[in-house]
Amino acid sequence: PEFNPIGQLTTQEAQQEIAKWQDELTQYGVAYYEKDAPLVEDYIYDAIYARLVDLESKFPQFVTPDSPTQNVGGANKSNLPKVIHPAPMLSLGDVFSLAELDEWDERTTKSLGFQSAYNLELKIDGLAVALTYVKGRLIQASTRGNGMIGEDVTTNVKTIQTIPQVLQEPLTIEVRGEIYMSKASFAALNLQREVDGLEPFANPRNAAAGSLRQLDARITKKRDLSAFVYYTAEPEVLGVTTQSGALKRFAELGLPTDTHNQVVTSMLDAENYIDQYTTQRDDLSYGIDGVVVKVNQLDNQLDLGNTVKIPRWAIAYKFPPEEALTVVHDIEWTV
Ligand code: NAD
Repeated sequence: PEFNPIGQLTTQEAQQEIAKWQDELTQYGVAYYEKDAPLVEDYIYDAIYARLVDLESKFPQFVTPDSPTQNVGGANKSNLPKVIHPAPMLSLGDVFSLAELDEWDERTTKSLGFQSAYNLELKIDGLAVALTYVKGRLIQASTRGNGMIGEDVTTNVKTIQTIPQVLQEPLTIEVRGEIYMSKASFAALNLQREVDGLEPFANPRNAAAGSLRQLDARITKKRDLSAFVYYTAEPEVLGVTTQSGALKRFAELGLPTDTHNQVVTSMLDAENYIDQYTTQRDDLSYGIDGVVVKVNQLDNQLDLGNTVKIPRWAIAYKFPPEEALTVVHDIEWTV
């Protein structure tokens, strides 16, 4: 979409445009998160979101607490029981070019006072889940929901083969990661849905979300979901001080981890990693929509902290859309 230069807007025009995009993104969010049936392609959502961030930063008097920029998008209006997260489950800030990534690195370097090492991870195209283990046993699994309150999907998650019900060590810890559907399972599911006369899922992420957030865990079981764990708010339980160290410990505990991560100490190496997976993403058996760059030292992560919505110690570099995608919903682009 094309937008008018912000400098040319009157205050009233800016206010109207902000309200318009807040409403529109909220509607898209409902379709995407609650119904698992997006109305527009992600790159369109992302472009409007970036425009709204820009407008709100120039006209902060029009930022409202319910603006999509101030809230972690998610669903918890289903009939699934609710779970309050001990620590909020956040989203990620995103950038769409290497130039923007460099700017993020410069800001981070300035805040820390030195160039940090980064752990680079693939951005798995699924939905976030929190897994609570008590003395090594899986006792609860929940979705991100609105970041504060998620949905209880314990029975459903217990049908996922790659998630251990018992850890290799009797630890009490909450870990977080991504539930996803492999490309092969996604293709098979959509084929079956067409045969059954059902609407196919738009992408593996929506298919994973729709399959996990079922009241009947037997349906989830048939959907062949997988998972990767990438985070804990309690690294002291693992005795680790780095993000890359946490990933190693997760694997030792028997938790599924994505092994494509890499620690880099320069932005040149980060760009090479991004280039590599921009071309190799098709060869992976699961969908990725970008690369997540994370400050590797956990004490530095704490120093940088979080906003209400995103950590300052990580950023998602999003891949450009793969092909010319169709817009499945009419929107007015001119404002
Ligand atoms: P996001 O999906 O862009 O990024 C945050 C999420 O990335 C985390 O919550 C986590 O679940 C996931 N993730 C995957 N791999 C990870 C890793 N290695 N480390 C850490 N996190 C990892 O943000 P979001 O808030 O979940 O969703 C916003 C995005 O959803 C938008 O950018 C847009 O693309 C899409 N969306 C689309 C529509 C639409 O109508 N098409 C509507 C709403 C949202």
